[in-house]
Amino acid sequence: MTDADGAAPTDFIRSRVQKDVAEGRGPVVTRFPPEPNGFLHIGHCKAIVLNFSIAQEFGGRCHLRFDDTNPLKEETRYVESIREDIRWLGYDWGNHEYRASDYFEKLYELAQLLVRKGKAYVCSLSEAEIREYRGTVTEPGKNSPYRDRPADESIDLLERMKRGEFSEGAHTLRAKIDMASPNMKMRDPLMYRIRRVRHHETGDRWNIYPMYDFAHPVSDALEGVTHSFCTLEFENNREVYDWFVANLPLPAEPRQIEFARLNLAHTLMSKRKLLELVQRGVVDGWDDPRMPTVSALRRRGYTPSSIRSFVKRVGVARADNLVEHELLEFSVREELNRTAPRVMAVLDPIRLVIEDYPQDREEMLSAINNPEDPEAGERQVPFCRELFIERDDFMDDPPKKWFRLAPGREVRLKHAYLVTCKEVIRDGEGRVTELRCTHDPESRGGEAPDGRKVKGTLHWVSARHALPATVRLYDHLFMERDLSALEDVDTALNPDSKTVRDQARVEASLADAVSGDSFQFLRLGYFCVDSKDSRPEHLVFNRTVGLKDTWAKVKNRA
Ligand code: ATP
Ligand code: MG
Repeated sequence: MTDADGAAPTDFIRSRVQKDVAEGRGPVVTRFPPEPNGFLHIGHCKAIVLNFSIAQEFGGRCHLRFDDTNPLKEETRYVESIREDIRWLGYDWGNHEYRASDYFEKLYELAQLLVRKGKAYVCSLSEAEIREYRGTVTEPGKNSPYRDRPADESIDLLERMKRGEFSEGAHTLRAKIDMASPNMKMRDPLMYRIRRVRHHETGDRWNIYPMYDFAHPVSDALEGVTHSFCTLEFENNREVYDWFVANLPLPAEPRQIEFARLNLAHTLMSKRKLLELVQRGVVDGWDDPRMPTVSALRRRGYTPSSIRSFVKRVGVARADNLVEHELLEFSVREELNRTAPRVMAVLDPIRLVIEDYPQDREEMLSAINNPEDPEAGERQVPFCRELFIERDDFMDDPPKKWFRLAPGREVRLKHAYLVTCKEVIRDGEGRVTELRCTHDPESRGGEAPDGRKVKGTLHWVSARHALPATVRLYDHLFMERDLSALEDVDTALNPDSKTVRDQARVEASLADAVSGDSFQFLRLGYFCVDSKDSRPEHLVFNRTVGLKDTWAKVKNRA
């Protein structure tokens, strides 16, 4: 798979893997471990691209593991959407699809083994007591009074916890590590909690569920994972991870390596908060084109390669930062600039009548499809007496530097003729309803025969031929750039994040456009056919991004 930016990146993770491979710790096996409790978002893309591309670069493989240690009710649709999104991004995990719940039996055996080795115990402190005994960053913790409980007693209690004899919170299983460790995570971390809930995969079989710190290293090792990448919040968990790997008889010795998570300006990146937006109807589902989910980006017109390029441009580092949204936009714009055909569409139409053009005449004008792509060729665009232009391309009383249409002014209609505005027709309220113009018949194609300079060029569609369409324009869901401390979603919402133009007209060549097709609407931006709401008789488009590249500006400011 090649992306716009070609060569394989170099970074601290790749150097590390390189070194490990040189020392014989190959073949490289990585994994992407989503919790099936929501849709994947752009942050996950960073982890997906990292895991799969490192596996590819080193000739290894990447597993997909659903981290379903939390018993959940609704999950099938999440599992399916996760698979679909990863495939869409261009990655394949072959038959290496796993679930943490596949390992529940094995985890239980390993837990018993640790108890027998005197390295784990059933603790009967309450949740609040456990917290109190744990100490603080500056003070060591205290040993639980149950720490030296005989192994047989722990084994028995654990079995009964599993069978459902106790209520939630009555007991836990804890690793016996070090209550005085400067790393709080090492202070006898929990391995199992009682949760008397049904699991979607294992049913009622279990009344205890393993904690992340225990389940993750074991799952990695059982799958032969060599490199377990995770985000920086887990840095302090690494010692626990290593402890389990060192103290259990496991078939592999995976290594955890942390990297900075992706934070994107104006973007919420937590499944929990995104779910809240969906549930409260703030957005129209997980794939509302304003959402940062993969399904929304797809619907918005982002391509897999643009997302991969974005992730590669962001790179991997060990310091948290906030990536500008313009970089994401730049990545898709750069691609669409090369690939999307350029067409004309008018979002807020106003009628323009060319008085000196015969009523029954029609002609076809050549229009180049994409100047960036010599292969794209030309198409024929119909022209006639009545056209539509953009309402805001006309101004009654314009300032000096106005190069668009105004009474008495001459402009170029793209690919067509030079026209001059002669008269403005209004309705009872004074709103402009029609512009009466004349044209220069000698200017076919758009150039004046006498070489006179006409600065303004407008896009237009033929009123007789154009197709009705709805066009949706999107802006950030949140105006705030940094949402890391966001408390109240409502106060931060951008009231203008979605604008619908339901009287739009698009050129007739779009009659065959199908779901997912992308176009550049001249002067307006990049748009794609909506996969849910568009119909052949009434097309619906979503704006992917505007035309203007603001990334260069942002970059220079930095
Ligand atoms: P969220 O906070 O959105 O719920 P999560 O971390 O709980 O995300 P998981 O399904 O557990 O979501 O994540 C699967 C993988 O994706 C993990 O390895 C996690 O580190 C990674 N990941 C999640 N969010 C990001 C992000 N913003 N940047 C990079 N990697 C991420
Ligand atoms: Mg999670």
